Amino acid sequence: MTGKRFLADRMLGKLAKKLRMLGFDTLYFSEIEENELLTMASNEGRILLTRDKELFEKAVKRGIETFLIKSDRWRSQISAVLKKFRISENDLKLFSRCMECNTVLKEVSKQDVMLDVPEYVYMTHERFLKCPMCGKVYWAGTHVEDMVEELRKLKIPVRRE
Ligand SMILES: [Zn+2]
Repeated sequence: MTGKRFLADRMLGKLAKKLRMLGFDTLYFSEIEENELLTMASNEGRILLTRDKELFEKAVKRGIETFLIKSDRWRSQISAVLKKFRISENDLKLFSRCMECNTVLKEVSKQDVMLDVPEYVYMTHERFLKCPMCGKVYWAGTHVEDMVEELRKLKIPVRRE
């Protein structure tokens, strides 16, 4: 595990969600002051991901580890991040973290999510994960398939569980 922790600027909401989906501790706030962002990165030892060249330079000046994202498309963004930090298949933990709020997911029993998921999902899946913070429920269905397919397109091989 690389154990990389990220802080995404407010232009990188989609990238933040994808990084969480891959298992990386990634903070993101749609409304946050620049200074607050820099202080948080510094205090928590997070890598600041930004689209903003000026913010990037400020971070460098303050000795904060940072990475300037050039593309405005999330596929290229994620590809750039994985390459930059030499993240490999073994570093990924697909769907271990809530995409919405970054909380580590807990495995729950099928009965626990009966009321939370569509009936066909309940009938066709055995393994469910739930976010203890926001209550969002995840299952190894289309989300995982789609992400694995995306990663393959990006030439990142992913082991299936
Ligand atoms: Zn959540």
